[in-house]
Amino acid sequence: MRALQLTEPGRLELREVPAPEPGPTELLIQVGASGLCHSDLHVLHLPFKVRDEPLTLGHEIAGTIAAVGDQVAGRTTGERGVVYLCWSCGVCPECASGNENVCRAAGRVAMPPCPGLGPDGGMAEYVAVPASSFVPIGDLDFVAAAPLADAALTSYHAIRGAHDQLYPGSTAVVIGAGGLGHVGIQILRALTATRIVAVDTDPAKRELATECGAHETLAAGDDTADRILAMTGGRGAEAVFDFVGVDATAQLSVRSVAPNGAYRMIGLGDGNPGITAGPAGGPELPWGATVRKSYGGTKRDLIDSIALARAGRISARTEQFALADGAHAYALLEQGRIRGRAVLVP
Ligand SMILES: [Zn+2]
Ligand SMILES: [Zn+2]
Repeated sequence: MRALQLTEPGRLELREVPAPEPGPTELLIQVGASGLCHSDLHVLHLPFKVRDEPLTLGHEIAGTIAAVGDQVAGRTTGERGVVYLCWSCGVCPECASGNENVCRAAGRVAMPPCPGLGPDGGMAEYVAVPASSFVPIGDLDFVAAAPLADAALTSYHAIRGAHDQLYPGSTAVVIGAGGLGHVGIQILRALTATRIVAVDTDPAKRELATECGAHETLAAGDDTADRILAMTGGRGAEAVFDFVGVDATAQLSVRSVAPNGAYRMIGLGDGNPGITAGPAGGPELPWGATVRKSYGGTKRDLIDSIALARAGRISARTEQFALADGAHAYALLEQGRIRGRAVLVP
């Protein structure tokens, strides 16, 4: 089969490789679509090899069950679904509480194995996955469904975790209307009656934010925090979702979140929010505000995201590419030229 693999640091190659054999507790998925994520770029630019053998990227996988392992019950070939990206142990206290995204088996790193970031991912014709990771999608289109596995899941998890702040009449700031942010705006619209303020440097992404349901958009700049304060009677926004995570957006989050508000770090831009343990006031994090580094989501978050998509309440905007054009699609993503989510079709 063909697979898009990371062969050396920074080098992607479309290679001919044997199709995987599913183990006794696994499923073989015939990939229908596989989404591109900024975290793939992070892996692509690591100065060292992620593992000795070439790695197939892709952690947003939608497809059809092509074969079922001997010990798997309750799944049949031909079923359509997406792959839950946290391959967690399923039995530890966190998993038992439904917090599979911070599974204890993954130690303090708390990032369970994820396809395309350790085990082979979905940018191939076939991928073997744990049977427990398969979540049915009904008749959803594969290209539409693939981004649910991360872009929707991760946004949904961050938003659900801030639901106390997202009461009617509150303000939620969404920083970055890219692959995750544009879905996050739709999830906020579907779940809450909060006022949504989207912030982006790119006019095309602000336009997308409006299309997705943002009530107001702001061009990111030096005065953005002041403008958010002015829009909220000087208090700030009850929830701030930073889908970018660079210095400027992390500091904007701290400066624009309200007292008792929720600041959620989602984008992995290595930004420094500059939080100190000094008294609140001025540019400091206000009293009562919480900061959470939000990783992925739970399996229930994925099931809920699929339900929202099937109900027509959320839909990722996608740009479709052939598997062979994967490297080009990553270059466009890196240049900020993808509207919504880029998806590869094998
Ligand atoms: Zn991702
Ligand atoms: Zn676990």
